[in-house]
Amino acid sequence: VSSILIRDGWIVTPKGEGVQVIQEGAVAIEGSKIVAVGRSEDMGSKGSYEITIDASKKAILPGFIDAHIHTSLSLVRGLAQDVAESEWMHRTVGPFTRHYDRDTALVGSKLCVLEAIKSGTTCFCDYGAFMSHLGREVFAKSGVRADICTTINEMGTGPRRAGELYEFDADIGEEKIKSNLELIQTLHGTADGRITCHFGPQAADMMSKELLLRVKELAQEYNVPIHMHIAQGGRERAQMTKRYGMSTVQFLRKIDYLSQNLIAVHCHDSTEEEIQTLVQNGVRMVGCPGSIGLIDGVVPPLQDFISAGGTAALGSDQCPPDGHNMFSQMKYAAILNKVKHQDPTVLPSWKVFRLATIEAAKCHGLGDKVGSLEVGKKADVILLNLDSPHLTPRLGRPIRNIVPNIVHLATGSEVSTVIVDGHIIMDDSQVRTMDEKRVVSDAQDTAEELARRAEADVIEADSGLVRMMREGRL
Ligand SMILES: [Zn+2]
Repeated sequence: VSSILIRDGWIVTPKGEGVQVIQEGAVAIEGSKIVAVGRSEDMGSKGSYEITIDASKKAILPGFIDAHIHTSLSLVRGLAQDVAESEWMHRTVGPFTRHYDRDTALVGSKLCVLEAIKSGTTCFCDYGAFMSHLGREVFAKSGVRADICTTINEMGTGPRRAGELYEFDADIGEEKIKSNLELIQTLHGTADGRITCHFGPQAADMMSKELLLRVKELAQEYNVPIHMHIAQGGRERAQMTKRYGMSTVQFLRKIDYLSQNLIAVHCHDSTEEEIQTLVQNGVRMVGCPGSIGLIDGVVPPLQDFISAGGTAALGSDQCPPDGHNMFSQMKYAAILNKVKHQDPTVLPSWKVFRLATIEAAKCHGLGDKVGSLEVGKKADVILLNLDSPHLTPRLGRPIRNIVPNIVHLATGSEVSTVIVDGHIIMDDSQVRTMDEKRVVSDAQDTAEELARRAEADVIEADSGLVRMMREGRL
C-alpha cells in the first residue's frame, strides 16, 4: 500500500450543496482511498507518508468526470462542422467512421485519453464501438477510471438520404446488443474496480421499439444504467415523427422508458414541458455545450434541467472546440447559458464546477466513489498550478476568487499532477502511463490511412465541407 500526502495547496471540492475551499490544505491518500482532508498543520508529520507532494501555489481538486465522450472519434476532428445539422451525421462524420476498424478506434481513443488526462480528466464515460478492446487496451492500461458502453443501434453504416425513414436490420441490433452484453460480463468491475459498464442504445430513432425494450430489461437484470442520446435535433425529430407521430420524449414516456436508470444526453430538441417530464421521472441529463454549440448551433438546456430540480453533468462528446478539456466545457456551459437566458446569475461558477465533478459522478451512479475530495472516496485527485499571470491574484477575502478563476480562466494546461485510484498517472505534466510521442505519431499515421480509405465516400457524400474544398475556400 502506497501512501501520499499532498500538502499546502488550495483545496477546492464540492461539499454539501456547494463548494468548499481550504487554504493551506492537505489531502492524505492510502492505497486507493482518501483518508484525510483538512488543513496541512493538522495532518501529522511528513515522515509517515511514502510520497509527499508540495502543493503550495497549487490547487488540489477532484479529477474531472467527462460524463459523455466518444474517445475514438478524435481522429475526425476538424472534419465535421460548419454544415447543417441534417448533414452532420450521415454526410460528414459517417463517411469517415464507416471505415473505422478496431485499430482505428484504439489509436483515436488513446489520443483522446492522453489529451484529456493532461487537462485533468480522470473518469471517461465513453460511448462507442469496439469498447471491450478500448476498455482493456486504453482505459485499464492508462490507469484512468471509465464508465463505458457499446453503441447499440439497428442501422447499417451505409449512406442515407435525408428524409428517408431508417431501415432497421435486426441482425445488426442483435450483434450490437451482444457486444454490449459481453462488455458488461467481462469488464464491469475490473481493473481494481476502475472500469464499470452500462448499456448504450444510441437513440430512439436508430433502433426498433422492441430492441429498446430489451435493453431496458437487460439493464434491470444487470443493475446498470442506460446511457442514451435523446432529442438531438431536427434529423432525429423527422425520424420520430415519421415513424411514431410524436417526439422522442413523448415516445419514451409512452413506452415507460423514463426512469432513474436513464442518463439522457443532449435533450435540446425538447419543450419546457418535456424537460419537466424528464426531471419528474428521475432521468439524469448530460449536456455537451462545446460540441453541441459547434455542430448544432444550440445550447443544451442545462439551466432548465437544473432549475427544474434535475441532476445534470457535462460531457465533451465528440471533437468539441478546445478539445476534450473539461475546463473548456465548464466555460461553455457557464457563458452559453448566461447568454441564452440573458441572465448573468445563471450557472454560477461553483455550480458549474459541480457539474464536472460531483454531479457528473451522481449522474453515472458513481457518487459514493468519486467526484469530491472526501474521506473514504477513491483518490482521484488533480493538482493545478496557480502561479501564472492569468490565475493571479488569489484572494481569500472579502470575496474568495479561486472557484470563479478556475472555472472562467483556467485553460487546463495548468494541470501538473493527476492521481487516479491512488496512483500517480501524470507528474510534472508528463503522463507516465502512456508514451506521449508514440500516441501522437500513431494518431497522425492512422488518420492519414483512414482518410485514404474514406476519401471516395467523403467526396460522394458531397457535404458542405466538400463543396468548400472544391471552391477553394477551405
Ligand atoms: Zn454522443
